Amino acid sequence: MRSWESRPEVRQARRRLLARLRREIGSERVVRAMERVPRTAFIPPMSWHMAYEDIPLAIGHGQTISQPYIVAVMTAALDLQKTDRVLEIGTGSGYQTAVLAELAGRVVTVERVPSLAASARGVLEALGYGDRVAVHSAGEALGRPENGPYDAILVTAGAPKVPGQLLRQMSPGGRLVVPVGPRTEQDLLRIDRADNAFSIRRLGPCRFVPLIGSGAWACVPTAPQSVGLL
Ligand code: SAH
Repeated sequence: MRSWESRPEVRQARRRLLARLRREIGSERVVRAMERVPRTAFIPPMSWHMAYEDIPLAIGHGQTISQPYIVAVMTAALDLQKTDRVLEIGTGSGYQTAVLAELAGRVVTVERVPSLAASARGVLEALGYGDRVAVHSAGEALGRPENGPYDAILVTAGAPKVPGQLLRQMSPGGRLVVPVGPRTEQDLLRIDRADNAFSIRRLGPCRFVPLIGSGAWACVPTAPQSVGLL
């Protein structure tokens, strides 16, 4: 992996991607955080040559590591502070988790597929995020109420509706970023909580793999879907 990262064509692709994000995202903090996380560490070796293309990539079990652009958009939308407690739903590869850990105080992340949770935990520990990140297998409830409430919650899978269970896990002043809509296309939403009043903002269209289980879709789709352009 290290030798891949130092190849001239990989370094060039990485520079190109970061320059695009810098132009389009408007948050230097987020781009700097992404600059510090090697995407190669989170994908299978057969995809290393595409690590810094701005596309989602397969990580097994019909799941994908999100497109870097959407990782940047979602991270920026959370307005993270260094002391924030963050919940991520859908650890997947752990890439987005690492980006969150670069900007927040503590990240709790839950994943439905146990082997993805195990491999993400291993990679995050190897990269030195172990003390700030806790990776859990998803339980009965959506999210992780026992460790909440959270200043920021990020859902990296598409929900059929705004999950009420997650609204209850937000702190006052908290932000929830979640793709909501049919399986084929969702709206990326940011929901803000001020005490018991919630406000919703639409950030744009997106396409995610489905959020499965309590408060979400009932079963896994037959064909894998991808995480696509906003
Ligand atoms: N953030 C990830 C994207 C993973 S794709 C990355 O950067 O790699 C979304 C993930 O959500 C999948 O791994 C899927 O298994 C997981 N998922 C779906 N429903 C879930 C649920 N109810 N709880 C936890 N994880 C869920």
